[in-house]
Amino acid sequence: MASAEHIVVVGGGIAGLAAAHALLPAARESSRPLRITVLETGNRWGGKILTERLDGFVIEGGPDTFLVAKPWAVKLCRELGIEDRLQGTNPNQNATYILKNGRLHPIPGGLTMMIPTEFGPMLRSRLLSWPAKLRMGADLVLPPGTPDVEESMGDFVTRRLGRAAYEALIEPLMSGIYAGDGDRLSIQATLPYLPELERKHGGLIRGALRARHERQKNGGAPGPGSRSLFLTPTSGLIEIVEALTANLERNGVDLRLQSPVRWIRRVKSDFVMELADSDTIVAQGIVLATPSYVSAELLSELDPLLAAELAAIAYVSTATVSLAFRASQIRHPLNGYGYVIPRSEGRAALACTWTSTKFPHRAPERHVLLRVFIGRAGQEGEIPWDAAGLIGLAQRELAETLGIVAEPIFARAFLWERAMPQYNRGHLDRLKRIEARLESLPALALAGNAYRGIGIPDCIHSGQLAAEGVLASLNLHSDQHPQRERVT
Ligand SMILES: Cc1cc2nc3c(=O)[nH]c(=O)nc-3n(C[C@H](O)[C@H](O)[C@H](O)COP(=O)(O)OP(=O)(O)OC[C@H]3O[C@@H](n4cnc5c(N)ncnc54)[C@H](O)[C@@H]3O)c2cc1C
Repeated sequence: MASAEHIVVVGGGIAGLAAAHALLPAARESSRPLRITVLETGNRWGGKILTERLDGFVIEGGPDTFLVAKPWAVKLCRELGIEDRLQGTNPNQNATYILKNGRLHPIPGGLTMMIPTEFGPMLRSRLLSWPAKLRMGADLVLPPGTPDVEESMGDFVTRRLGRAAYEALIEPLMSGIYAGDGDRLSIQATLPYLPELERKHGGLIRGALRARHERQKNGGAPGPGSRSLFLTPTSGLIEIVEALTANLERNGVDLRLQSPVRWIRRVKSDFVMELADSDTIVAQGIVLATPSYVSAELLSELDPLLAAELAAIAYVSTATVSLAFRASQIRHPLNGYGYVIPRSEGRAALACTWTSTKFPHRAPERHVLLRVFIGRAGQEGEIPWDAAGLIGLAQRELAETLGIVAEPIFARAFLWERAMPQYNRGHLDRLKRIEARLESLPALALAGNAYRGIGIPDCIHSGQLAAEGVLASLNLHSDQHPQRERVT
């Protein structure tokens, strides 16, 4: 009988767990036996996905929802049998606000992919001056830029819609997702659909109008009986992690917590990994689903050039603070999903989600749950990175903007050190160099949020592609899983 091949997934975040899940069909169907191990340094699974359930509240420490338009998360939930657990955001109170000069203004209706597609709401909005609105309209007549020239997000949006629209509208929306500095982030790497709209339709407004038309024709966003753009399991995103680990366990995958990998070496065609206790593990294939700066350390001996490229991907630290109140303590109507804060407002917080309005099932009746996001690129030095400091900062934000001065029933701070990779200009060229180095390391693939998308669906997809790449290199590939590129 042929000896078993061993594939090790390093990192038990969503990308690593999705990679292990994608290896299962090969373990079942391949004529050669396949062993799968997942090694995670922490004492829980899920990485940035962390849900706490406390006194009837569902508290998300990291992500709280995922985008439906990128299909991989919904598809995974379907495979795991938890699709019916997915809930959309509250359709009855779906306004989002932007802070300007200390006051909240509703984001004008009709934004599609962050781009205005309805003129009435835009013209009525007090977020922008008349000259700024006129400048936005110039997008309809401006010629497209030079193709294949990488631009920062700030430069690109300024070129199309004007600097005022960038600073007041696009920058705060984007910051809430990437905690990044738009004047450094590459538009092509971070939001590739925007240059694509320009390339295909000659401008952003034209392109967004077409996209909106297509979506309306197709009956809204895809999803289980829902037109919501975002979904999340009823009792938190950790449900996906719980379903994944339970299924991996049922299928004989060796799941090991508190098992940090220290380094990876090559011995003939095998990989040898050393764990913290000097235990070694031999594998024929590896999916590295760790942050890129960790992958850099693990590979520093095996391929110093690859390690240097991985180490050069920048990360930003960020934090969330969830605060629970009795509804009677709050005068503000909290009539929407929350607000984002432009960099120009000079606040340490970058957004506040009105969680119990956005997801009513996440707080008991007559209670309110709010979540403040803190920390963005370039402002990290100004933040007290400890629980008391973060909670104090969140309370000051709530007092200043929403007039909430009551003591919360509880407050929970979650600090995410070096959590948000920044796809700064040069990122796509770096990915090409990384892919070239990986050519000489067959059966080793990278997955996770450092490469081609930080959202949960992209991370799931990256894990799946990495798994397929390793299976193909080991000839364990089945026809149902055609090979694609390995860095995702
Ligand atoms: C505050 C916050 C809010 C967010 N909100 C959203 C949102 O609403 N929607 C959305 O789609 N995305 C959101 N994101 C982004 C998304 O959550 C992440 O990009 C994604 O979860 C990252 O998954 P990952 O598997 O790539 O990495 P991680 O979750 O970081 O997993 C990597 C794992 O590797 C482990 N590890 C590290 N070193 C070693 C080692 N030496 N050996 C073994 N294991 C190791 C780590 O412990 C970790 O578990 C948010 C992120 C943050 C921080």
